[in-house]
Amino acid sequence: MRIVDKPVICSAIAEVKEHMARAARENSRLPDEVTLVAVSKTFPAESIRTAASCGQRDFGESYVQEALAKQKALSGLDLVWHFIGPIQSNKTQEIAENFDWVHGVDREKIALRLSRQHPASLQALNVCLQVNVSGESTKSGVAPDEVFALAANVSGLPGLQLRGLMAIPAPNQDPRPGFRLLRTLKNALNERGYKLDTLSMGMSGDYEIAIQEGATLVRVGSAIFGKREYG
Ligand SMILES: *Cc1c(COP(=O)(O)O)cnc(C)c1O
Repeated sequence: MRIVDKPVICSAIAEVKEHMARAARENSRLPDEVTLVAVSKTFPAESIRTAASCGQRDFGESYVQEALAKQKALSGLDLVWHFIGPIQSNKTQEIAENFDWVHGVDREKIALRLSRQHPASLQALNVCLQVNVSGESTKSGVAPDEVFALAANVSGLPGLQLRGLMAIPAPNQDPRPGFRLLRTLKNALNERGYKLDTLSMGMSGDYEIAIQEGATLVRVGSAIFGKREYG
């Protein structure tokens, strides 16, 4: 087996985890209350194998075909797969059949397809609703005031487990207001009877801030695997 940059990847993971633990304590939480999803999109299966060899279990991918090829190559490993990319209707079946989590659900139509296509033999697919917290017209994500209606339509769909909310604040501006808005929306939903336990927010540039603001899951790519050539 070819070992790709093992010391580099493993020390990067250790460093990210150290920063995560510090941010969690600053937010009066324990380090293990925040999950690290290592975003491996565009990097080869061997990089994932290396990360797994130093204890990393959760991986995030954005491109379905690329992800399926890596899952096949790594089928002997006990990994948790997160789909974090935009979801096209014609990809829902492969997502429903091959991922444990899907973070970018922002319309009912996609949720209905995932529910219908999710094999009953598998554990429920964990779903986060993506919210457009920065009001960018081009960005995917449901508008903040529409998340209540979407949650009502998604929760209770067979095969899906509504776990929480996800956001990607606009780049090049303070991410804090967006993170706070997402936390406020999750709390508002729980006050209405939902049992959401996940705030999926924070990437390489802002995961510590996200944890300070309540993130329970951060999606970190380049700080672990290095700079991407695309995507
Ligand atoms: C690529 C991607 C990430 C990781 O981004 P980095 O800045 O490399 O950490 C996180 N979340 C989503 C939705 C992504 O598409």
